Amino acid sequence: MQVVVFSAKPYDRQFLDAANEAAGSPHRLRYLEARLTPETAALAQGAEAVCAFVNDQANAAVLEDLAQRGIRLLALRSAGFNNVDLAAAQRLGITVARVPAYSPESVAEHTVAMMLALNRRIHRAYNRVREGNFALDGLLGFDMHGRTAGIVGTGRIGLAVARILSGFGCRLLAYDPYPSEEGRALGLDFVTVEALLARSDIVTLHCPLTPATHHLIDAAAIARMRPGAMLINTSRGAIVDTRAAIAGLKSGAIGLLGLDVYEEEGDLFFEDLSSHMLQDDVFARLLTFPNVLITAHQAFFTTEALTAIGETTIGNITAFAETGRALHAVSIEKLA
Ligand code: NAD
Repeated sequence: MQVVVFSAKPYDRQFLDAANEAAGSPHRLRYLEARLTPETAALAQGAEAVCAFVNDQANAAVLEDLAQRGIRLLALRSAGFNNVDLAAAQRLGITVARVPAYSPESVAEHTVAMMLALNRRIHRAYNRVREGNFALDGLLGFDMHGRTAGIVGTGRIGLAVARILSGFGCRLLAYDPYPSEEGRALGLDFVTVEALLARSDIVTLHCPLTPATHHLIDAAAIARMRPGAMLINTSRGAIVDTRAAIAGLKSGAIGLLGLDVYEEEGDLFFEDLSSHMLQDDVFARLLTFPNVLITAHQAFFTTEALTAIGETTIGNITAFAETGRALHAVSIEKLA
């Protein structure tokens, strides 16, 4: 198939080309640095499929434009699909495919890396030691062993986090509308989201972004948390109300905050903006807190994950080309 790959970075090209070559080079991949937006959708002209990532916009207007240009497949290089208007895709006859499980461990391990870095103030210690400041004041952490971690969303990534944290000797609480036997076997205690927030020293978010989880962590939820608790979000930015989180940091309700995702990350993440003036005042405020650690949506960024993303994406495109059905199609029912 003729495929236009939006938001393509050198690493996307490397892993997609490798997967395409391994499959006998059945597809012609055209790489574009541009993000998919209403303004750039026209660049898909001449292709049959579009390959997109987390900050590409596949809203109704974009999908209508793509459909008119003959695009029949939207192959996401991500697990999440909150950036796609699935109803519009269905109406327009565009199949949406994704990569459902490309290495839950990549995200889970980054999540725990953020927990440990924040807890033991590694981000501050690194700078101090480089400047010859060997004082320990302000670096006091806590033992993970015996602490209570609350996992919101116990799918593939949430369970991988649970496996790691149980190795630390954490007590594990969980909230998921669909509690699993696998979770229970790992020692997860499934409780309400309110109880999880009230009892956890660490709250970590691994549910998808849906209308039900948008701003799940808002001012009221933060007020329910244990004062000074740690909050980690490596799922999707809009699950946390950023302004409420800033208020929580100022009051001390949130003691430590780790973010790999941010509500308005589409204008920032994946780009080198170091020579530009930061325009986002909310993000700028977040950066002023010493107890906030932000990474730019890199939790997935391991060799294993990128290899799997490349292989599954090419597999989705090949299956669609051969049978009219992708291997991992996203149906609108998944939103229910
Ligand atoms: P998954 O589908 O395996 O698991 C999601 C779990 O969330 C399911 O068990 C589901 O029942 C649960 N859930 C649904 N609605 C919920 C709600 N209202 N409250 C609590 N739980 C709810 O997905 P996964 O592979 O574990 O990925 C989880 C999320 O992680 C993805 O949706 C994506 O947004 C995010 N993600 C982030 C990165 C990154 O690089 N930062 C990479 C991959 C995925």
